[in-house]
Amino acid sequence: MKQRMWMLCLLLLLGVAVGNVGAQDMPQVVATTSIVSDVAQIVGGEFVDVTPLVPRDADAHAFILNPTDATHVADADMLLMVGAGYETFLGDLLDNLVGIDTQVVAVSEGIDILAYMDTHGHEGDLSTEDGHHAAEFIGVLGSPELDCTVGAQDHGVCDPHVWMNPRNVIIWANNIANAFSALAPEHTDSFRTKADAYISELEALDSELSDILAAIPQDQRKVVTNHEFLGYFAAAYDFEVIATVFPSASTLAELDPRSLIDLIDTVQSEHVKAIFAEVSGNPQVAEAVAQEAGIQVVTSLYSESLSEIDGPAATYLDFMRFNAHSIADALSG
Ligand SMILES: [Zn+2]
Repeated sequence: MKQRMWMLCLLLLLGVAVGNVGAQDMPQVVATTSIVSDVAQIVGGEFVDVTPLVPRDADAHAFILNPTDATHVADADMLLMVGAGYETFLGDLLDNLVGIDTQVVAVSEGIDILAYMDTHGHEGDLSTEDGHHAAEFIGVLGSPELDCTVGAQDHGVCDPHVWMNPRNVIIWANNIANAFSALAPEHTDSFRTKADAYISELEALDSELSDILAAIPQDQRKVVTNHEFLGYFAAAYDFEVIATVFPSASTLAELDPRSLIDLIDTVQSEHVKAIFAEVSGNPQVAEAVAQEAGIQVVTSLYSESLSEIDGPAATYLDFMRFNAHSIADALSG
């Protein structure tokens, strides 16, 4: 009996030791959001340890970095970020990482960036010359011509919500496979194979979303969103984002009563069918506007983060499916 206890203890000790060595050897990667983290963990597989900075179900626009988070990033081998001006919550941290061994990778590099609609004048005429509310392409992320840092607004403000189009997440998967291959060259084949398999799933997802959304008639495809997060989705799947409740990129923008009256007028004159708000944001203003305008409001969309594991948007693929079904249900009825 005593001998068996000893054996058990020895095995446990060995197991713990082996486990620790494995975790320490593995490249440690921090992804700024749970969506980036999901894609990165799929590409990295068993050879990379990825953790998200902004937790599931959280609003990245309202995220405040604490000293523990900053230490976690500084201790990591690599920081994966969306880029395009999204991660304002990192503050000075990126500057402080210069000279430290943490590599910083913007996974959206190479993606065609759209401008936020409200750079065309939220309060004025929202239409372009042809009468459509098309988002404007302002450049490729990573090219010298496009600067998405806050304040560099000659070209319009970059909309960073690129993941709302799965075609852009294909570029993420490729960028992440390349970044991981530089980090752990011995596993390049695995990263490439896993990225390619996931890219096939993303291509299938793109077709699936088109099928789900095909149920919505052409004249029902005008929407208002709470903050501006559906630009890439709208461009990919033929919707028009007519206006936003919050007059900017962020869920934290200030509202004035005049702009809300204008918004209700716009909703009615444009025959908008529904307002779409995010679970992570405050839906109260969207609900009030929808009620005043006599239209539907959907407050269950996921925008910045995945849901908890047991929720309806636990992976990026389910996140997009859930959003598409919610939008189709609201607009095709
Ligand atoms: Zn957002």
